[in-house]
Amino acid sequence: KPDLAERLAMRAGLASPPPTVHALDGVSLSIDRGEVVGLVGESGCGKSTLGRIVAGMLPVTSGTVSREGRDIATLRGAEERAMRLATQIIFQDPMSSLNPRKKVVDIIGEAPRLHGLAERRDVRATVEGLMAQVGLDPAMIDRYPHQFSGGQRQRIGIARALAVNPDFLICDESIAALDVSIQAQVINLLVKLRQDLSLTLLFISHDLSVVRYISDRVVIMYLGRVVETAPTDRIFAAARHPYTQALLEEIPRIDRRGHRFSSVKGEIPSPVNPPQGCHFHPRCPLAMDRCRVERPVLTKASPDHAVACHLDGGTGRPLTNAGVKTGD
Ligand code: SF4
Ligand code: MG
Repeated sequence: KPDLAERLAMRAGLASPPPTVHALDGVSLSIDRGEVVGLVGESGCGKSTLGRIVAGMLPVTSGTVSREGRDIATLRGAEERAMRLATQIIFQDPMSSLNPRKKVVDIIGEAPRLHGLAERRDVRATVEGLMAQVGLDPAMIDRYPHQFSGGQRQRIGIARALAVNPDFLICDESIAALDVSIQAQVINLLVKLRQDLSLTLLFISHDLSVVRYISDRVVIMYLGRVVETAPTDRIFAAARHPYTQALLEEIPRIDRRGHRFSSVKGEIPSPVNPPQGCHFHPRCPLAMDRCRVERPVLTKASPDHAVACHLDGGTGRPLTNAGVKTGD
């Protein structure tokens, strides 16, 4: 419901409400402490919704979100506050979430002051430390957002998120609006911060090539469902789902034409009324009759590789180690 989403967005301090909420269907996602998971899919697949649900910003109508074994919906008071601070989201467009009339010292220093993490007289020093940590010159502490470049503004957004000492960062298309060379710098920063601060990261992107350099594991979503998950190396060397394979085929073409992303053949069907059976069947070159009626279950192809497809990587053979459900 947009009303609720809007209210929650405001409560979470977002400048604008999240986009339309798309249904998630039997999604099961677990992230280990210290792990970096890349969540990939075309726009409208539900990846941002999933990110907001994981952060506790959107309620789930069925299912649960647990953190360290505890259902976050049951947390109250100080525990709920602590959970919210420990999970921070960084969004795509820092300009829309940075107040243009506030100086950087107030933007980054607001949350630590509000939550009693820094005394008023210590806020400047705290902010200077955070600026240095994200590669910003602390001498710019009294400047306004428009006095920074796009990449620097994203660093301000990262510093603001780090200011409340989170251990889990969700980056939702955080670098999509930046030039490729700046994207690489911000990714390098996140890789460094992950090591220095032992962060866990959920890195949401429509671009497989972007998550490659930061993720330990990749989760591919299509229309509200997880269709494949595997360690990053395996996704790039031995993807088994036709959709993942199609996404991979896009990458060299992107580089040649200089386009960021051109979508897999065919329109993305409406997430409101998705196709029966395998959601991908109208666009899948390997679709069979069965695909139009029977939903493929996310099934382990090997201990760390799960695929939701009636075919084994397009060879026509059924999955061999079928049986272990990780979804739904
Ligand atoms: Fe294609 Fe069928 Fe596999 Fe879906 S289940 S990806 S339609 S082969
Ligand atoms: Mg999105």
